[in-house]
Amino acid sequence: MKLTVVGCSGSFPSAESACSSYLVEADGFRLLLDMGNGALGELQRHCGLYDLDAIFLSHLHADHCIDMCAYFVARYYRHDGGRCDPIPVYGPEGTEHRLTTAYADTPSASSMSEVFDFHTVKPSTFDIGPFTVHTERVAHPVEAYGIRVEHGGRSLTYSGDTGVSPALVELARDSDLFLCEAAFTHGKENIPDLHLNGREAGEAASRAGARKLVLTHIPPWTDPQVNLVDARTAFTGPVELARPRVTYEI
Ligand SMILES: [Zn+2]
Ligand SMILES: [Zn+2]
Repeated sequence: MKLTVVGCSGSFPSAESACSSYLVEADGFRLLLDMGNGALGELQRHCGLYDLDAIFLSHLHADHCIDMCAYFVARYYRHDGGRCDPIPVYGPEGTEHRLTTAYADTPSASSMSEVFDFHTVKPSTFDIGPFTVHTERVAHPVEAYGIRVEHGGRSLTYSGDTGVSPALVELARDSDLFLCEAAFTHGKENIPDLHLNGREAGEAASRAGARKLVLTHIPPWTDPQVNLVDARTAFTGPVELARPRVTYEI
């Protein structure tokens, strides 16, 4: 599997990075995890506009899904005159309504579903192309999912947005790469069931037995180096900060 960080800024984009979006590729299949603010532009550095095969949305906060409105335009009003076939879009209950109302005040009822084939995510195990994926509810104010992606005996777990979550630890069990949010700073922000801090991300990785931890979703107002140091106090394996345009072979 190949993972590309398309965007990794938390909550709102930074000067350096779009919001959450991660491209996972194997056997020529391209699965995008989240499409936050600015992700569609960045994505075009890594593949063509119409080269995606499936999209997974961890939850419906704007920093994880709002560029789906821009992507709708690109697929629906395709410049060569053809309309794109529906691409599978996996998201929480209400994804189509959320995106449709974000797109326009008076949306036509059917247009989104003409180019997006919406599937409602529940905690489960299913296949997306060559990947076996496991989804689990995580601790966030809205319905939110972590996802584990497996291919060829290797595994990647992405936390989405979450507070401390035993379910996330189980999802990430023995993952080769654990892409975990660390939006908060230890000792500074402490709101339950919203975000993890660096130490908590490290603790989750340690409990899960993850082989590598990559911290992501750090907002522009947070010092990433503090979160990196905090994560290392709790996890003895390799830890690094997600950076846009970096790829990992898993
Ligand atoms: Zn977020
Ligand atoms: Zn969120």
